[in-house]
Amino acid sequence: MQPTDYIWMDGKLVPWEQATVHVLAHALHYGTSVFEGIRAYNTKRGPAVLALQDHTRRLFNSAKMMRMEIPYTEDEINNAILETLRANNLKSAYIRPLVFRGMNKLGVDGRGCPVQVAIATIEWGRYLGEEAIEQGVDVGVSSWRRMAPGTLMAMGKIGGQYVNSQLVAMEAHDRGFAEGIALDIYGYVSEGSGENLFLVFDGVVYTPPTGNSILMGITRKLVMQLLADLNIPVKEQVISREMLYIADELFFTGTAAEVTPIRSVDGIPVGSGRRGPITEKVQREFFGITSGEIEDRHGWLTYVYEE
Ligand code: PMP
Repeated sequence: MQPTDYIWMDGKLVPWEQATVHVLAHALHYGTSVFEGIRAYNTKRGPAVLALQDHTRRLFNSAKMMRMEIPYTEDEINNAILETLRANNLKSAYIRPLVFRGMNKLGVDGRGCPVQVAIATIEWGRYLGEEAIEQGVDVGVSSWRRMAPGTLMAMGKIGGQYVNSQLVAMEAHDRGFAEGIALDIYGYVSEGSGENLFLVFDGVVYTPPTGNSILMGITRKLVMQLLADLNIPVKEQVISREMLYIADELFFTGTAAEVTPIRSVDGIPVGSGRRGPITEKVQREFFGITSGEIEDRHGWLTYVYEE
């Protein structure tokens, strides 16, 4: 990772190397953290953050689920994110706000440990590779399932839960895939280790419903809006594994992965084995808006230097 000058920590900017935690921080032992992944894009009007308020809202919702009181308001966090981007003088960035329980005691119930907040802004290119955006990626269905309802909280972006994502990602990489697709405990298609999934079949776009095993992705929401703008119907419904094999198109969405086509699943080509026309249309809109080339008609961008 390329260091930047500053990280925002507990209310102020500190030099990169001073943004440290105690080895007995509760989060390090039990995964007691919530976080976000946000992107800032380079535009002619300077860097612009995509869906900033949505991400900060989700951060606060994740914290609420974990009974963590963030000692700042959402506006203060939004401003801190912009301040950190300016301090590091970045044209584009991956932004990582992190809320975690620090050091005080080691009991499993972490309440009583301080709630700390850090915001890092780093340079990060295409998550699944530059070529992936056009060529698509090869993926496999994971042997690991997403968490069952009532065990963890799939709608929260909670540190400890990413052990599940790590198992999916490590297995996929060991099998030579760029990413894995996890099924839910009932055997229905859930999502990637860090991406939501869309499937095109017979002119209709399908995506698994929220509320059982997926993260309510913000890119998922934006892409559903873009599909509506394009008059392409989208259905949120349960998807069986075999639908992956007969789909005309498949693509991932996520802040890191953006809109990435999937060209094969378990070695079976998706459609023609190349990026499909609906995926391409969605990408054109998504990258058009985030680069500032297409008008930001839904007000998704917050310009870093225009307050
Ligand atoms: N699912 C999981 C498990 C994720 O970690 C992410 C990345 N935040 C996503 C989906 C995509 O969500 P978003 O579009 O909000 O980045």
